[in-house]
Amino acid sequence: MSAATAKTTSPHPKILIAAAGEDDIWQKAMVARLPDADIVTQHENYDPATIDYALLWKQPQGMLKTLSGLKAIFSLGAGVDHVLSTPSLPAEVPVLRLEDAGMADQMVQYHLYAALHFLRDFDIYTRQQAKADWTQHDVARISKYRVGVMGLGALGAAVATAMTQIGFAVSGWSRTMKAIDGITTYAGSETLTEFLGQSDILICMLPRTPETEGVLNSNTLSQLPKNAAIINAARGAMIVEADLLRLLDTGHLRGAFLDVAITEPLPESHPFWDHPKIRVTPHIAAATRIEESVDQIAENIDRITRGETPRGLVDRKTGY
Ligand code: NAP
Repeated sequence: MSAATAKTTSPHPKILIAAAGEDDIWQKAMVARLPDADIVTQHENYDPATIDYALLWKQPQGMLKTLSGLKAIFSLGAGVDHVLSTPSLPAEVPVLRLEDAGMADQMVQYHLYAALHFLRDFDIYTRQQAKADWTQHDVARISKYRVGVMGLGALGAAVATAMTQIGFAVSGWSRTMKAIDGITTYAGSETLTEFLGQSDILICMLPRTPETEGVLNSNTLSQLPKNAAIINAARGAMIVEADLLRLLDTGHLRGAFLDVAITEPLPESHPFWDHPKIRVTPHIAAATRIEESVDQIAENIDRITRGETPRGLVDRKTGY
């Protein structure tokens, strides 16, 4: 393999799980899938130098520094920002992420609901209900309603495809050029203005990296058509929250449907909670499905054992 790097290992690998409050669930599933492996959680006694693989979600600070024999690090999610931002991350150890692992279906459901919310004016009718207002509005034509998806990876491509299937006019934007049936695609920062200018609904499905942090700010959000809406179920850090609030309040933007925020849980006093143009959900758009995930992890351990390139290998340079 290229980052190549992962050293081959014995068929009885030693695996450490640090998965926030879910260590036991992951351990049980991994033991069932890899009965010959030696699988411990962060709360058991183990010799850090003997661990081959670490399965991580919000691991304790400093843990990685102690794991001197690691052959690979697995993120127990699609995002790897929580791993790559660890100061003690060993430079040479491959980092792997989950690809789809049951999340694409859930992302599709979340975004269909949110996009229809705006297409069918449910945001407006919710505000009207509070005033006992029975005003009816014309139904927009779906084929003329333009959805722009930022990020066409494992999850973004599934969301974009589902949007075309119910009739939206869909475009997508990524770092490198993609070809997806029925979708107009754009690539690179030089096409961002054009892409934004024709997105009545902007969906953010980007990973959090140094390049994407704050990508949705006053300047870029102003390039959306007047009355555009935003859906963000990727990471809170992609949006400059004060800029979003300003553009909602000045009326340039129609609304925002947000599953993520810079600070989570969203503090009780945060202006998103009771903003009339914002819908908030508590980071539930797509949960990792354990069965699919342990299959992916086990298959990757097999690949590494055979000296092959594993799936979901993260490029440390691009950050995803
Ligand atoms: P992925 O497969 O890594 O895809 C990332 C996409 O973003 C790719 O199309 C990539 O372009 C594009 N991209 C990255 N950097 C870019 C840049 N600087 N400019 C333009 N495009 C850029 O990621 P995924 O599996 O679809 O997941 C996306 C994110 O969803 C995750 O990172 C995670 O943060 C979030 N997520 C949230 C939840 C939730 O419950 N809220 C659940 C799961 C995941 P290329 O195609 O050219 O590489």
